This record gives sequence, structure tokens and C-alpha cells, in this order.
Amino acid sequence: MRVNHISERFNQVQDAISQACHRARRREEEITLIAVTKTWPAEVVQAATEVGLTDFGENKVQELIAKAPLFPENKWHMIGHLQRNKARQVMTHAQDFHALDNLRLAGTLNRLAAEAGRIFPCFIQVNVSREDSKFGITPDGVGEFVIASEEFESIKIKGLMTLASPDIRKVREEFQLLRSIRNKHERLIGTGLSMGMSGDYEIAIEEGATHIRLGSALFGVRQ
Ligand SMILES: *Cc1c(COP(=O)(O)O)cnc(C)c1O
Repeated sequence: MRVNHISERFNQVQDAISQACHRARRREEEITLIAVTKTWPAEVVQAATEVGLTDFGENKVQELIAKAPLFPENKWHMIGHLQRNKARQVMTHAQDFHALDNLRLAGTLNRLAAEAGRIFPCFIQVNVSREDSKFGITPDGVGEFVIASEEFESIKIKGLMTLASPDIRKVREEFQLLRSIRNKHERLIGTGLSMGMSGDYEIAIEEGATHIRLGSALFGVRQ
């Protein structure tokens, strides 16, 4: 992966972000671009860091712990499903967690954060497309989850996260649904909306995304 490819792709992505913001009358500063480096080696993280990317995402703990310590200046986001026995590693290496999908995991993260004397920021993953293959709380279950997680004082719910369905015709509605669920719970959770990947981030921005997670748009097709 040559650096100039990344910088070209990054420029294109920045243009697209800026245009989507313009259409939606939003400011670019409202949006955090997370570079998803899953499957790519540390050299790619290095190149992406050099062109100015600062936020990185991994969906597997193994990859997170292999790469994050090499780039301590970057901000690391764990964006994939997490098992409780690996929660400690994630807390050590990631600053934000985007895939909180069950209360037992919330309890474990809360205990570890309390032990470490810190507050750990999490997004609740919501399965807006209701696909069986996807992790996440059902849209109807979010209210109960939010109320139950009130007791966990050492995790901070920054907002909601989703993966939209592969059917591009459904995507906008799904992002709107995530936003409306967030609005409904705005007194108890943060305003974050982690939504939008390479194929749908412009729609996500139009619908209010605060965090977009891009892999192939920045790095090409994964091997
Ligand atoms: C892989 C992945 C992405 C990025 O996917 P692209 O389509 O390559 O942009 C975003 N979010 C999650 C949770 C992922 O696993």
C-alpha cells in the first residue's frame, strides 16, 4: 500500500465529507473520521498517520493489541463485538468502544474502569436492520438497556452505533431510526451517532452521524 494512494483516497473522502456537510448544513468539525485498519499491517497505519489521520478503528481485539501500542499518539476505537474475557485488553488499548451490546459486558467494563479509576466511553450497538447475523440491541430494547446501564457509573454512554443493511435503499431510513432512538433518550445518553461505512457514509452524514468508520474508502479492498 503506497502512501500516495492513501493520501489520494483521503483527499477524495475529505471532499465527499465536506460536500455531504454542505448539503446537510453541518460543520465538518462535528464529524470524527475513524480509519478502519482491520486486516492491514502496521505499515498502513503508519502511512495513514503520516497523511494526517488521527482516529483508528479495529474490530478484533487481536489486531487492536498488535497495532495500537505502536501508535500511542493515535486515538484507537474498538468497533467490533467484544467478549467479556477480552474486556481488559480493550480498556488498555482503546479510548472508545463502539459495540456495547449486552449488560453483562457493560458490568464488566464498568468494574474494570472503576478499578482503573477512569470513565470508559461506549456506544450502544443497535441492530436497526434487525438482521439475525448482526450483533446489537433491538430498536425496542434500547430504552430498557439505557435505564439498566444507569447504574454503571464508570462507563459513559456517548451515543448509539449501527451497521446499516447492505441494501442501499434501506440505509437512509435505518440511519434516521438510529437518530430518532438517540433523540428519544437524549436525557440519559450522549449525542453520538456512530454510523456510516465506505458505502454509505455520505448518507450517514446527511442523517446526523458524528462518527463515520471507513476502511475500503481509504485503503482499498481488503485482502
Ligand atoms: C469493517 C468495518 C467498517 C469499515 O468497513 P468499510 O466498508 O471497509 O468501510 C466499519 N465498521 C465496522 C464495525 C467494521 O467491522
